Amino acid sequence: MINDIAPRRFDNCYKNKKAEPHDLFLSYEGNTVLVKKDKDKLWYPSFKDYEEDFPGLAENATFLFTVDDINYYLVEEKGLDSVDGWTYISTENFRTEPKKWRSFVGVAGWQLSRWYGNNLFCGRCGKPMKRSEKERMIYCEACGYQSYPTISPCVIVAVHDGDRLLLTKYKGRTYTRHALIAGFAEIGESLEQAVHREVEEEVGLKVKNLKFYKSQPWPFTDTLLVGFYAELDGDDTITLQEDELSSGEWFNRDDIPPDKYKISLTGEMMTAFKNRTVEL
Ligand SMILES: [Zn+2]
Repeated sequence: MINDIAPRRFDNCYKNKKAEPHDLFLSYEGNTVLVKKDKDKLWYPSFKDYEEDFPGLAENATFLFTVDDINYYLVEEKGLDSVDGWTYISTENFRTEPKKWRSFVGVAGWQLSRWYGNNLFCGRCGKPMKRSEKERMIYCEACGYQSYPTISPCVIVAVHDGDRLLLTKYKGRTYTRHALIAGFAEIGESLEQAVHREVEEEVGLKVKNLKFYKSQPWPFTDTLLVGFYAELDGDDTITLQEDELSSGEWFNRDDIPPDKYKISLTGEMMTAFKNRTVEL
């Protein structure tokens, strides 16, 4: 999965530390990220790379996290692709980069970049928000409101029946490969209740014997994914929720498609069922 970056170690502990020339930074414009041109991997800039053309960058940078001994910062100045050799490329590259620690760094930074960018003003009183120097938190000096990064819990459900697994395809998304049932937990609901509701809503089936598999941070959508296997309970007739799904069908183990990029919990759960490496 995209967050499985061992032996490298992702450390999200917040440090109140000014950036130094050898530290790396992440810069985003919309759905794009700044990387070095002519590299076959996601190669992020250091402050040293920008010290001639943008000498003040390190001063205004926001600390993000550390991977091994490399500190990563967020830089919000625009137009950094005006420096020769650097370019903005689509964040879709996070899904295909073979070196997962590079894509995980990029997508985790993107989540924080969106959170900072979407919370410039206080949601309670409208005054500008400030960034805490003690922790990853923003606050309003005027009214005391505090805000932490958004993380929304979402269930992924692998519905199985003997040697069959239920696979779906979502409508109107860039991602068009087979998926599992998925949906956000709603107000007042446990994860288990979300599993039953989502399966019923999306494909009209009942399930039993829920088994928690793994969870995964999914910074693309500010989500914490929680994966469950769930056994079909009763009738196997699929009634598709057509405004969300374009298909939903039973696949025998051998027909389950391979997981090409191995970044998602969904892919890992499909493969584990196919290869019988999960005990159900
Ligand atoms: Zn306020």
